[in-house]
Amino acid sequence: MHSSTSSHSGSDSAIVLALLGLVIGAAIGFALRPSVLLVGQLPFETVISRGANLSGLDQLLVGTAQTSFNVMAAGAAVGTIGGWFVGSVLGGSSRTDTRPSTPRAALASLATAVPDNGLSLCRECRVPLEPRTDPCPECGAPAPLT
Ligand SMILES: [Zn+2]
Repeated sequence: MHSSTSSHSGSDSAIVLALLGLVIGAAIGFALRPSVLLVGQLPFETVISRGANLSGLDQLLVGTAQTSFNVMAAGAAVGTIGGWFVGSVLGGSSRTDTRPSTPRAALASLATAVPDNGLSLCRECRVPLEPRTDPCPECGAPAPLT
């Protein structure tokens, strides 16, 4: 599982999580494979070959091997889809965050959002003040000179 490429875009994280989900889902599906009376769960090489390596009386277990393979494949498919979905959500959320990143920028956008209708902003708590309101009724600071 060593990759020679090392870019860090959101789609790559989705691919990585999809592969992780594939492995985890396959492992869970393999763990949940059906067991046979007196034989128990079939070994991995029997499951992955869908029973092709069975011979003699063991060929009775081919159906169980195929069922085990299907369970593991279903787990891998669900894990892949789930991992891809999680990776897409995580990768997308970091790119759609357009809010100001600093408190100073947030204050600036708040100040410019107030319409210029004669009101002025308190220099301390930034509430809109009626003209010639002094001091600020909110925090008691002197009104800004206008
Ligand atoms: Zn104030």
